[in-house]
Amino acid sequence: MAKTPGQTTHTPMMQQYLKIKSEHSDCLLFYRMGDFYEMFFEDAVEASKILDITLTKRGKANGDDIPMAGVPWHQAEGYLARLVAAGKRVAVCEQMEAPDGSKGPVRREVVRVVTSGTITEAELLDQARSAPLVACYHKGEAWGLAAVDLSCGHWRLTEGSGDLLLEEQLAVMAPAELLLSTSDDSRHAVPVNRPGDWSFSAAVAREQLQQHFGVSDWQSLNLEKHEHAAAAIGAVLVYLGQTQRCALEHLSLPVFVEQGSGMRIDMRSRRNLELYCSLAGDPKGGLIHVLDESKTPMGARLLREWIDRPLSDMAQLNDRQNAVQSLLDDQETLQSLRQRLGGVRDMERMLTRIVLNRASPRDFRGLTEAIIALPELYALIEDRSGLFAAMSSAMQGMESLAAELDSAIVEAPPQVFRDGGVIREGFDGELDRLRGLAHDANAWLRDYEARERERTGLANLRVKYNKVFGYFIEISKVQAKDAPPDFVRKQTLVNAERFITDELHSFEAEVLGARDAALSREDELVEALSRKLCSAASMIQQAAKAVARLDVLCCFAWLARSYNYVRPEVHSGRSMKLVGGRHPVVERFLDSNEPFVANDTHMDLKNRRFMLLTGPNMGGKSTYMRQVAWIVWLAHTGCFVPADEARIPLTRRIFTRVGAGDELSSGRSTFMVEMMETATILNQLEPRSLVIVDEIGRGTSTWDGLAIAWSVAERLIASADVLTLFATHYHELTELPDEFDAAFNASVTVREWNGSVIFMHQVIEDAADQSYGIAVAQLAGLPREVIKRAREHLFRLEHGSELAAERGKPQLGLFAVAEKKQQERDLERLRALENVLQGIDIESMRPVDALMLLDQLKNGVSES
Ligand code: ATP
Repeated sequence: MAKTPGQTTHTPMMQQYLKIKSEHSDCLLFYRMGDFYEMFFEDAVEASKILDITLTKRGKANGDDIPMAGVPWHQAEGYLARLVAAGKRVAVCEQMEAPDGSKGPVRREVVRVVTSGTITEAELLDQARSAPLVACYHKGEAWGLAAVDLSCGHWRLTEGSGDLLLEEQLAVMAPAELLLSTSDDSRHAVPVNRPGDWSFSAAVAREQLQQHFGVSDWQSLNLEKHEHAAAAIGAVLVYLGQTQRCALEHLSLPVFVEQGSGMRIDMRSRRNLELYCSLAGDPKGGLIHVLDESKTPMGARLLREWIDRPLSDMAQLNDRQNAVQSLLDDQETLQSLRQRLGGVRDMERMLTRIVLNRASPRDFRGLTEAIIALPELYALIEDRSGLFAAMSSAMQGMESLAAELDSAIVEAPPQVFRDGGVIREGFDGELDRLRGLAHDANAWLRDYEARERERTGLANLRVKYNKVFGYFIEISKVQAKDAPPDFVRKQTLVNAERFITDELHSFEAEVLGARDAALSREDELVEALSRKLCSAASMIQQAAKAVARLDVLCCFAWLARSYNYVRPEVHSGRSMKLVGGRHPVVERFLDSNEPFVANDTHMDLKNRRFMLLTGPNMGGKSTYMRQVAWIVWLAHTGCFVPADEARIPLTRRIFTRVGAGDELSSGRSTFMVEMMETATILNQLEPRSLVIVDEIGRGTSTWDGLAIAWSVAERLIASADVLTLFATHYHELTELPDEFDAAFNASVTVREWNGSVIFMHQVIEDAADQSYGIAVAQLAGLPREVIKRAREHLFRLEHGSELAAERGKPQLGLFAVAEKKQQERDLERLRALENVLQGIDIESMRPVDALMLLDQLKNGVSES
């Protein structure tokens, strides 16, 4: 506010604005003025740029115009979404009383600060993802995280130690906003706020929990032994108090749930495997995109959670698999369930908006319909055991609430409450009476008009209404002199006079009063329904969770049915057997002329734990290795897997190292990233890990790279109980199986046809015979001269190379066969040329024939 002078020079309204703004200097201030939220000074300039809205002015400060920009209140959500997406926080300041014409501005208060981690509006949220507010508390190496999804009311608490695990946990939580202490200067891609270091404290958490939830029993929350998570809860609750300024009744209690170890996948591996988007950043290339066959927003969010957090508890896995299998075995029920789920909107978030008093009439109707749909859903699963039993009982008990809501809320309510029309006719006698009064006005007016015409004998007397004058009697100028004395003149027009009578006046008061009274009666009724929903909030939340679970199980069954996924057997033994494995994403995007080639994988944590995979670029190595990782990952979520048969050893961790790009923004080169990923793997390996290494050592010189790849491979082979798939272009490494029993060679096959290579994408258990690198480069369209020159260089390198001398095999046996073939072809061509030249009889040749022959020879040379 550099340009604002002493507040006394301003109008009272501007003084009020400046006072409120000074209390929220870190936010843009949406200052309600009638039907608009206005912004002033720098806020107006900044917002007008972000929102592309007109910048105007209002009044002066220090002789300069005060910039102003505004948005209509009923479109505020869209504008808020854009401001929050631009990283802004917005304080929403409302008028707290109706303007009554008395002196001074109406009372205004900030009712809420909108931040990216606390939004609840449908328009501002991605319905398939939760957008939690996460507080991170640090103490030495140890840390505690508390995440709350305000839009659904869920908490997630976790604790641990070390930066890597923290990074991993944060990646899974995917915060929309982070709360940190002032001493924590770690860099994050999401907005960071600091509610005050004092708030990161278990004592503050206790106080806040008592205040918000009336809970003093620390033990029931399992927070006694989890002081770090408790400290983070303190910061979350303080921040919510600072920004939300309303009761948060819909929040569940923050109970610390011991989560067991689960299967861990570090942040880079998640990215490398393309969970949420392809490495190029396209969400359609992400696994989630092809897996998400859910029907409800709650299901979509839970699906991501299940995929994000694979299980290591076999009993839990079995429960999920049994449920999926039972749906798969009963396709009719599966279809019916999916059809009904399709009609259930976002119960969790609609409920939250109702509890927080931010709902629209459509939220009321949406939630009503969702609750109405529950009996049909549970009827379909009622007689099933296992997971279904809990789901079906969580959906029961709200039948009378559903009936009441249905009889109260109209089927197609308006967008806002302002003009009424939300409560059905017949629901409330008083409302019907008031509405009737307003509605019957027309009939009464017609009758009154007829009566007055008769009484006065003025045939063209009319009773009319306009917004400025309300109801009045209009008589033409000519007849106005005959108006009876009880007609009180109100307005004179060019051709007519307007009058009011006592009877018309009291009618007007009654009609307008009835309209207002109907609106406030409607408000009362909505308020009462809202209170009922608040008191049923935890029941509705439980039902919503059950709907989400059912939806995800149906989604898994649907995937299995539609794409031939099979139930994997996850076991505590050591062998892995995948028959006909496929990559879930690649197989969907190939066209039907080139079907996906399924491949098998036979490995064993003991004897066959290291697969060295060679073969040409584009041969399908990365696809194959990722598909193995995905099948193992999915098998630990309860989802069936893209294979004909799958036996999978219980796996604790998945690590990947996949051709990385530069992370220039973080100042890391490709090679540095590659080595960091490798270090993560080697330092954190534990029994029952699956390791995918797709190329290593390529970012440095051949010798360095080969040396690193070799020693990393040796280390992985030596790691007990670790399965590794290791793809490399260093052909030298194919010797490893000679040295180590646990290692074996595999390669992707290619065929040569008509001088070109054809990728078969078949994985066989043998080393690749050559690299076909130059052939692939030729396919890619490198200029002919460059390809030819490459072959010459290759020949020189192979014969001059010390490596070749020592080992008898150049890098990737690489180019030898191809080069030899090229030499033979060159020799053949020379011989053919020689034959042609020798066969020419120059003496008998016409000049034109000589020229043609020369042309032919030239073409022949350039084609080769
Ligand atoms: P590079 O070494 O250059 O990374 P690569 O050997 O890892 O290559 P991939 O990237 O896995 O090869 O595969 C290249 C393309 O081949 C894929 O994009 C896909 O279109 C196709 N492909 C891979 N595997 C198969 C398969 N099993 N069936 C059909 N097509 C496949």
